[in-house]
Amino acid sequence: MSEPAPDAADLIAARPCLSRHAMDGLLMEGVPLAAVVAAFGTPTWVYSAGTLRTRYRMLAAAMPGIGIHYAVKANDHLALLAVLAAEGAGADVVSIGEFHRATQAGIPAHQIVFSGVGKTGEELEAALAGGVGQINVESAEELALLSTVANRTGRTARVALRVNPDVDAGTHDKIATGRAGDKFGIPHADIAALYAEAAALPGISLAGLAVHIGSQIFASAPFRAAYARLAALVRELRADGYNVEAVDCGGGLGVPYQDEPAALPEAWAGAIRAELGDLGVSLAIEPGRWLVAPAGVLLARVIRTRRLHMPRPLLVLDAAMNDLVRPAMYGAWHGIVPVCTKALAAPTEPCDIAGPVCESSDFFARHRNMPPLSDGSFVAILDAGAYGAVMSSTYNARPLAAHVMVDGTDMALIRPRQDMAALWEKDIVPSWIAHD
Ligand code: PLP
Repeated sequence: MSEPAPDAADLIAARPCLSRHAMDGLLMEGVPLAAVVAAFGTPTWVYSAGTLRTRYRMLAAAMPGIGIHYAVKANDHLALLAVLAAEGAGADVVSIGEFHRATQAGIPAHQIVFSGVGKTGEELEAALAGGVGQINVESAEELALLSTVANRTGRTARVALRVNPDVDAGTHDKIATGRAGDKFGIPHADIAALYAEAAALPGISLAGLAVHIGSQIFASAPFRAAYARLAALVRELRADGYNVEAVDCGGGLGVPYQDEPAALPEAWAGAIRAELGDLGVSLAIEPGRWLVAPAGVLLARVIRTRRLHMPRPLLVLDAAMNDLVRPAMYGAWHGIVPVCTKALAAPTEPCDIAGPVCESSDFFARHRNMPPLSDGSFVAILDAGAYGAVMSSTYNARPLAAHVMVDGTDMALIRPRQDMAALWEKDIVPSWIAHD
């Protein structure tokens, strides 16, 4: 059985930054992707600056008065961060490396929130020294450490406690973060006691609460359930005499990779306002995927088409799971369309599409309807802007792919393909093992 629609035409039509041109083939904004391939080879990530701006503006329009802290983990390239910084985005970071990337790209430190379950003392100290806006504390142990670090360095940390609301976001098990037993946040039943403790700690200025229940969420109900828990906690804490001035609502809004109905920022904003709107708290969100996933594609070349002794034609690409791991890791579905116009219009047949890495899981698609593609032709793997390049590795000694940004009819190389020699230049062979 081959997979049902969407076909290439549907996939392209549903993605505003992509279009088909009779002569030039697949375009991102005004740039033929064949021109990107000709200039920079494959595999190559290509990002649309226009899409980043449009999506940021859509989100901001749906969320007036709500702060937007882009979740840097989704894509931490400085050029993407700079586009979002110019739109006024703050950042949500989960390591001191992400903090420095964000500030390097022009995001002011006071607009940065530091999340994550395993912040080290060194990271906390550096973030405080760098003027981080808020630290979302995920455990009693982290709170104690932060107080010690802040006190020792003569600083005050603005803190939100991250609540684990025990809400199932109804998403893939590996990207759910808000259920009891997930490693994230403080169980909601323990928040009141810890808030009281935190209020008495030196170096801590309590701002409020934070939550993040997972990623790739389409329904409003889990968001509402989580925010309702937080609203109840805000009321309880205030009744106990504590200051609660801010609620960070996390990220998680889903994007359609296949043909899922689009999740609307307005619906997410509605869930936030319905549960938290009348509390007089300042509100913020931490979106990642929704802003950047549709702004990127991964271009790849068909290295080999195997037809003999195979159940279906197998297309082996020069991109692999070390570039884009989502299909291998989460069984994620990504649209894959030819770059050349002739192939875009040709009749399709069911194929399997794999990378060359020596792992059985290195597949991008199975039973996928594709036009007959010859060796040397090119495809674009769609919606690869989030959790793509950031999760790449050099497994099988494969250099990291090049990155290109397009903006209107302009294109620019924003990270060259990794040099082969960079793969081993930091390796040290001890003198006692080297031989002449
Ligand atoms: N905030 C936190 C704390 C996260 O862990 C994540 C990712 O899982 C996000 C925000 C961004 O989520 P998404 O990319 O689904 O919007």
